[in-house]
Amino acid sequence: MLTFNTIQQVRQQVADWKQQGRRIAFVPTMGNLHAGHLSLMEQLKGDEVCLIVSIYVNPLQFGKNEDFGTYPRTLDEDSQKLEQLGVDLLYLPESTEIYPDGPEAATRVIVPGLADILEGESRPGFFTGVATVVNKLFNIVQPDVACFGAKDYQQLQIIRRMVADLAMPVEIVSAPTIREPDGLAMSSRNQYLTAEERIHAAKLNVCLQHLVKDASQGTDSNYAVIHATQELEANAFNVDYIVVRRQQDLGVPEPGDTQLVALAAVKLGKTRLIDNICFEINNT
Ligand code: AMP
Repeated sequence: MLTFNTIQQVRQQVADWKQQGRRIAFVPTMGNLHAGHLSLMEQLKGDEVCLIVSIYVNPLQFGKNEDFGTYPRTLDEDSQKLEQLGVDLLYLPESTEIYPDGPEAATRVIVPGLADILEGESRPGFFTGVATVVNKLFNIVQPDVACFGAKDYQQLQIIRRMVADLAMPVEIVSAPTIREPDGLAMSSRNQYLTAEERIHAAKLNVCLQHLVKDASQGTDSNYAVIHATQELEANAFNVDYIVVRRQQDLGVPEPGDTQLVALAAVKLGKTRLIDNICFEINNT
């Protein structure tokens, strides 16, 4: 596996591969890799494919009181996992190249509407940080295809919108959420949970499943959401939001909408957890 730090090194290697007719596949990450991350890479592996993974803890997507400083950084273990998986190139960007004048001075990519609701409402500036860094990484790596996890459902839709709006020549594919045996969605932030909180955390997915069941069975969605909120609160979660939305644009469902997603964000102690489940309702 090649490991590069500079834009110039990555560009040169990608140009060589493209000249050989190889397809460039890309997975951007913030590292501390778990089975969820690795599943995205597995999804892209193939005969004529050169697989590039980036690890970069992007300062622009962290709020002032968020965990940029303490976000787990485990480069040696990550690098071993990627090598074993058969990744061709690990790109470890330098902040001096991603934000030459510092994150605050960077040109930004804003996805209006979609980036302002749900996660965007709770974490102002978060999706601008994500869209900006993904845009820059795409410009450096110039992938034919890139994979994002459905675990971060709103992020996936924002990336799709950015790529469509800016006519970026990248195919975006998604991969399903990988979970722990008890149903908790894998996340680097799960390690912030205490042992007791970790046991409770699995209830988040259970409550979402109940909401999906209620909504699928035609229960009034306001009532179903109130019920789900009460269930989360009874399990010691501090509820940020739990909602049912349209899959495509995260708008409030209207009669006739069938492709839906239940999304939730909660705090358990100091740890913020998100999860979602896509589902379909039969309106006939
Ligand atoms: P992160 O390192 O948290 O920025 O995540 C990098 C990529 O991995 C994103 O596309 C995430 O959606 C994806 N990802 C994170 N956790 C999971 C998971 N449990 N299952 C599937 N994909 C995931």
